Parts: sequence; structure tokens; C-alpha cells
Amino acid sequence: MKLNFELVPDSCWYSNLRSILSPAQWDIVRKDAYARAGGKCMICGAPSKRLEAHERWEYDEGNAVQKLVDVVAVCHSCHEVIHIGRTSLLGGEERAAEHFMKVNGCNYAEYRKALGKANADHRRRNLVPEWKLDLGYLKKFL
Ligand SMILES: [Zn+2]
Repeated sequence: MKLNFELVPDSCWYSNLRSILSPAQWDIVRKDAYARAGGKCMICGAPSKRLEAHERWEYDEGNAVQKLVDVVAVCHSCHEVIHIGRTSLLGGEERAAEHFMKVNGCNYAEYRKALGKANADHRRRNLVPEWKLDLGYLKKFL
């Protein structure tokens, strides 16, 4: 799937880079993503003047390591899909499902299946008591 859900484990208190970096540092990271995007969502390709920075993480469950792998610039619609838990709480799930199906060219059953898998991954990752952060990605900026 080109566009997928990226649910962050509940125990990752510091998973938001904005809470780790100074505003000036975050600006450098964020602007690098916007520059690479060139005015288009890096996931669906839609032109947008208001892209949002999104942090991509990989999870090594065996070693309890949460690794920052990229910061990308995405449109609001893609960002809503990525954070489907929060989006659903705010009443936007139907809109997010539509966007997911459009971008991935799939049907509702496939949407539900992908969501089920993301939720299962999320529950399993929540069993890890504490994730260690790997922020090596940021070295090139700081
Ligand atoms: Zn998009």
C-alpha cells in the first residue's frame, strides 16, 4: 500500500520530535522535508501549499528499538489516514477511508483488512514496556 496507517505505540512518550528538538532544530528537519517534496504530497502526489511534516518510525520489537527513518511532507488527507486512531476520535474516519481507497486503488474490504493489521501491530507493540529511541537520522542535520 502506498498510503498506510502508522500507529505509534502508546508508550512512546517522546515519539513526537517537536518535543525533543528545539523549535529551530525542528524547523531545519521540517524544511528539508518540504524542500524534497517540492509542493507535492510525498505519498499521494497531490499539490498542496500546506504540507505537514510526518515522522516515520520503524520498530524492532525484539530489541525494543523505535528508529526514526524519515521525515516526510504529506498532505492533510494522507496525514489523517496515517493517524487513523486520532482521526476516528475526531469523527473523520469515513473521509480517511475514502482517501485511503482512492490513493491505494483498493476497496473497502481491503481498507478494513489493512486497518485490522495496523491495529494488531499496535496492540503487540504496546506490550513492549519501554522503547529505546534511535535518532541517528537526525545526525545529518544537527
Ligand atoms: Zn497526500
